[in-house]
Amino acid sequence: MALRNILLDGDPILQKKCRPVEKFDDRLAQLIDDMAETMIEGNGLGLAAPQVGVMRRVFVALEEPPQKKAGARAEEEDGQDQDDWVVHEFVNPEIIERDGEQYGYEGCLSFPGEFGAVKRPDKVVVRAQDRHGNTFTMEGQGLMARCFCHETDHLDGVTFDTLADYFYDPDVPHELDATLGGREEAEEE
Ligand code: ZN
Repeated sequence: MALRNILLDGDPILQKKCRPVEKFDDRLAQLIDDMAETMIEGNGLGLAAPQVGVMRRVFVALEEPPQKKAGARAEEEDGQDQDDWVVHEFVNPEIIERDGEQYGYEGCLSFPGEFGAVKRPDKVVVRAQDRHGNTFTMEGQGLMARCFCHETDHLDGVTFDTLADYFYDPDVPHELDATLGGREEAEEE
């Protein structure tokens, strides 16, 4: 596995629509493994292929273990609990169900330090393929639903800043600010 460079805000590649994956080969497996490593290294909860310059419909997402749902990842020592974290991989994902609504800050590894207030469905169902081409569906709620939407948007060239009502600014208090406390790093996608 290898770390890949994350493209940053302003890179035109982030605004392009990605093509479906057609070959489920070693190269795809390598891409997915590299993306997972890059996401974890960057302390993100999700990463889409265009963020590492690959214009294919792939993203990875990190699911927090249930007992650590408060974004306590930063407090873990030596990554000893890292085994509890599950990396999910999605090839050619499609959101097939949306339910409810949530409103909160989200971040992005391509926009370091920026947090935008974005409305998302509270629950979604994603249909996708794994690295071998097998189709599956997965439900995401709360933070995972937000992550699935954010990453799927990336594959269509849509970045969260275009959806944000406003950005977190320590000098301009907003009611959502309380939801950010201590979670900034953990929520970058
Ligand atoms: Zn992102």
